[in-house]
Amino acid sequence: MQNKNEVMRTVAFSRPRGNALIYLKHILLTMLLVAPAATIQAVNYYGSFEPRFFVAPFIVSLVVGSLLGRSVLLKVQLQEQGEQFRAIADLAQEFTYFRRVDGSYEYVSPASQTMTGYTPADFYHTPNLMDLLIHPEDRGRWSHHVHHINDGGQPESFELRLLSKDNRVVWFQHICAPVYDAKGRQVGVRSTNLDITQRKESEEHIERMAFYDPLTDLPNRRSLVKRIRSLIEGGSKPPQRFAVLFLDLSRFKNINDSFGHSFGDRLLKLIAERLRSSCQNGCLVSRFGGDEFIILLERVQGKEMVAEMAKRLLLAIEQPLELDGIDLHVSASVGISFYPEDGEDEDTLIRNADVAMYKTKKDSGGNIRVYSSDDSDEAARFVTTESNIQKGVMKNEFMAFYQPKVDMRSGKVIGMEALARWQHPKQGLIPPGEFIPVAEETGQINALGAQILAQVLEDICRWQEMGVAVPVAINVSARQFADHDYCRNLVQIIRASGCALPLLEVEITEQVFLGDIETAAERLRYLRTAGLTIALDDFGTGYSSFNYIKQLPIDTLKIDRSFITHIDSDKAEFAIIKALLSLCHDLRLNMVVEGVETAMQRDALVSLGCDKAQGFHFFRPMPASDMEQLLLKQQTVLV
Ligand code: C2E
Ligand code: CA
Ligand code: CA
Repeated sequence: MQNKNEVMRTVAFSRPRGNALIYLKHILLTMLLVAPAATIQAVNYYGSFEPRFFVAPFIVSLVVGSLLGRSVLLKVQLQEQGEQFRAIADLAQEFTYFRRVDGSYEYVSPASQTMTGYTPADFYHTPNLMDLLIHPEDRGRWSHHVHHINDGGQPESFELRLLSKDNRVVWFQHICAPVYDAKGRQVGVRSTNLDITQRKESEEHIERMAFYDPLTDLPNRRSLVKRIRSLIEGGSKPPQRFAVLFLDLSRFKNINDSFGHSFGDRLLKLIAERLRSSCQNGCLVSRFGGDEFIILLERVQGKEMVAEMAKRLLLAIEQPLELDGIDLHVSASVGISFYPEDGEDEDTLIRNADVAMYKTKKDSGGNIRVYSSDDSDEAARFVTTESNIQKGVMKNEFMAFYQPKVDMRSGKVIGMEALARWQHPKQGLIPPGEFIPVAEETGQINALGAQILAQVLEDICRWQEMGVAVPVAINVSARQFADHDYCRNLVQIIRASGCALPLLEVEITEQVFLGDIETAAERLRYLRTAGLTIALDDFGTGYSSFNYIKQLPIDTLKIDRSFITHIDSDKAEFAIIKALLSLCHDLRLNMVVEGVETAMQRDALVSLGCDKAQGFHFFRPMPASDMEQLLLKQQTVLV
């Protein structure tokens, strides 16, 4: 390539002096060659010399010399212009070329090498090189363009790809215009090509950020919505049926809380990979947010086929998994909605699949459910309850009722359980079954639990001052317990209240151990060391593994009332309670039987040697003021 100084010199060539010299040279030359010869000829012909024999050839030589000079000058100028153009084009970063109509190259700038890997010489040697370099996917557009521009078309500018010599994909902007001669005939095309690979890469990057989830690299919510819309707007008649599968992992929050968010993130990546590899064509797996994935199944025929697909996805997720040496068993629930019957737009379809998913989770009778319109009513109730709970917490409408635990032989109160009630301004007293599940699901249980705890501590302190000291149990749900700050906060709050720690018992269920039994055990040990006692609630309704009991720091086992419903007549129930009693005795655990409603049940239990119970037969849950009266009457001083 010419160096810059050379180029500048060529461009700055001093033209006026050069022009005069060219003229002078040609006039003198013509005069020297033409004028003497013509004068000699004339003298010979006429046999004498006259001045006109010299003047006429002189004038003719002057004219011819000037014309010759002019033509040479034009040629030189043209050459110089060409050189100037080349000099500038050679220097430019853009890959520029001039291609004749026959396809051969008149000029190719050296920047061709930077962009394509091929030198100008390669282009001169292979006239159709440019056509060969175009990316196979862009060749159709390219040949259409070449055809058009060679046919005297308008200047064009468009973006396409080529494959460079070292096989890189290069994005470039091709700017091209036809070139005509003075008579208006097309002589070729000139083109400038700008390397826009970097810009395209950043555009792609932005596109990825906008439409893909950075953690799992799955399409995100926006991509999904776009795809659903395009399916709907495809407007095929009859409408093309497709299915939306809403998949939500079970107890993922527990995993996150127990092992940390980075662990949770890696788990999500693994799950995403399993989902992706279980799906084939016509199936879009997207991450909707958190631990929720949505799978879009296009072109579905029957519901069975979709249910089969859902089963396959769940099976993939449920395969044993090991992360950081920890064995995990992940499960999920799937809700399904169909277009067009379950919704005519993406929002409705996704919402209804979510509603079906929620319903299957709540019913715990299987983990796949196809949406039905009844589910929506329930979901609407859920949302209303959620927003009402919010208001209730703000207005302090939640309170504790107390149900005594009694010694069945003496009938004396030996403790009590605090049970949440909602004093609703319009609906009156609402039992926990109607709001605890929603509060657990939405996380509102934390604020609600704190409100109940505050009241319980206030009541215990007051009773303590009255000289009555009786243990009170509070219910702690798995969702609360999973929060790694919960236990520390609980102990701090109790200490700050000035109430004696041994007066408080924490009732947990087996749900607490489903995340990670070791972490749960550690937290329970912490509570116990601080002075609290622990009861395992609803024993017999869940997994009821005796392993839990052996491994965990538990003081009391609360036997679910389903074990004693027919204890007075059912021999099996009788035998179970007998076995449980002996187990508790061996493990030095207290045993409390829940839900004793009749004297016959009480007698049967007493005959077995069971003495602690709770149930309507003795007392129903009551407000703090009634409880206070009862305690005063019994003058209970227990610790
Ligand atoms: P739970 O912990 O098993 O509480 C015992 C439930 O059995 C109470 O229902 C109580 O009223 C009821 N019960 C007691 N004796 C009898 C009886 O003889 N027969 C019958 N049929 N039922 C009896 P409640 O108050 O409706 O509470 C229901 C559940 O709500 C509780 O079950 C507990 O899981 C949850 N819950 C209540 N309060 C709280 C709370 O403050 N926090 C949390 N996380 N959960 C709570
Ligand atoms: Ca309980
Ligand atoms: Ca219970």
